[in-house]
Amino acid sequence: MSNPFRDLPSVTKVLAAPALTGARERHSPDAITAAARAAIDAIRTRLASGEVVAVDVDALAAEALAALDAQAAPVMRPVINATGVVLHTNLGRSPLHEDAARAAYEAARGYLNLELDLTTGKRASRQENVRAGLKAVTGGESATAVNNCAAATVIALRAVAAGKEVIVSRGQLVEIGGSFRIPDVMAVSGAALREVGTTNITRLSDYERAITPNTAALMRVHCSNYRVRGYTRAVELSELVELGRKHNLLVIDDAGSGQLIDLTPFGLPGEPLISASVATGADLVLFSGDKLLGGPQCGIIAGRAALIERIERDPLMRAFRLDKMTLAALEATLLLYRDPAKAVREIPTLRMLTTTLAELKRRSDAFAAWVRAIPGVTAGVWEDESFVGGGSLPDVSVPTMVLGLSAEGLSEAELAARLRVGTPAVVTRVQDGRVLLDLRCVFERQEAELLGAITQAVL
Ligand SMILES: *Cc1c(COP(=O)(O)O)cnc(C)c1O
Repeated sequence: MSNPFRDLPSVTKVLAAPALTGARERHSPDAITAAARAAIDAIRTRLASGEVVAVDVDALAAEALAALDAQAAPVMRPVINATGVVLHTNLGRSPLHEDAARAAYEAARGYLNLELDLTTGKRASRQENVRAGLKAVTGGESATAVNNCAAATVIALRAVAAGKEVIVSRGQLVEIGGSFRIPDVMAVSGAALREVGTTNITRLSDYERAITPNTAALMRVHCSNYRVRGYTRAVELSELVELGRKHNLLVIDDAGSGQLIDLTPFGLPGEPLISASVATGADLVLFSGDKLLGGPQCGIIAGRAALIERIERDPLMRAFRLDKMTLAALEATLLLYRDPAKAVREIPTLRMLTTTLAELKRRSDAFAAWVRAIPGVTAGVWEDESFVGGGSLPDVSVPTMVLGLSAEGLSEAELAARLRVGTPAVVTRVQDGRVLLDLRCVFERQEAELLGAITQAVL
């Protein structure tokens, strides 16, 4: 019997194969050598385990090249969101408006007046760049922005309530997801949590009884991602404000999803409006920039100027402050709100949320006709329900249109998996034996690519 290891080629021989000589434009010599060696080692391991393997130099070189190309490709890549979930945390939540994306790009690739007053030539605060825009959309006396709403909660509590007690209803001690739990966040801030009431019922008297000389604030946390139903009672913000005034306590509203424009005329349910919280008298209102605002990831704090100043003076501000790209994208997004009708029409998150059923049906029908032209594919269009997701409008399903897809010889799970790993990657819903595509979050510019991805997936 011949020794199979004798057939293993040398590294030099694999490097001389055309696949790898052609790779020198894209990959460094060291990386190519390492990949060739790894491919040979892998075969040696298989031979050592007794496997019968045909050793072929070109096949080894091709394997090494595939590994090199895979290593050089970015892990993060564009995904077509065909789930219908507009604020999909795993897919990056809010897509930015072109103006905001361009502002971030320009900020990224060059210099800008981030902390410089160009008129006086003097140093300025980066927070000033977005203050006027934030005040305009929230109605707050002042406002500021940090990295996300979790950071906003930590810094706000630390600045105004560290070493003191903050009263929160047990019905609002929520986990937002990704291990963001209100009690843990409060612990980090140095404020002591004073829980009152029960999961389903909290009365104003529960808050009032818990007030001590060491109480700093009353906090409301919006049930962004769940609802308590049935025999339930929560205290209105206006009642908390009244109680706060009576006892000289601050009222903090963690509003979460942060809706700025009333979307009920578009058939969407009423999330608390930020301007309403501010007008009701909450001293500080906190919300995310990349939920219903439709901007970049950030956390916004609006409210009384003296408190915002204290927050900005907190040493944590340095750790939580926004980078130039996010600030540029936020400013551009806020400018779109100067015309609310335009904001709803153009900010992707708001446009997707308010897309009409008729519009979705028109697009789905047209797209289904293209899909049916792919051999072996069947497609139907019908009405279904989708969820907004991402810590907003938890139990609210909005009517939507879906395109149900099946391919000969492929299970729905196989088809969905192929679409996910294709180029571009397509994320779908799988339901009742079919792959469902919801075009609500598919940009019209992506439709041709989506059709190409489906064609590739069923080959
Ligand atoms: C989403 C949410 C948060 C967390 O916001 P991030 O911007 O994701 O950090 C905090 N509080 C509430 C009520 C939320 O809905």
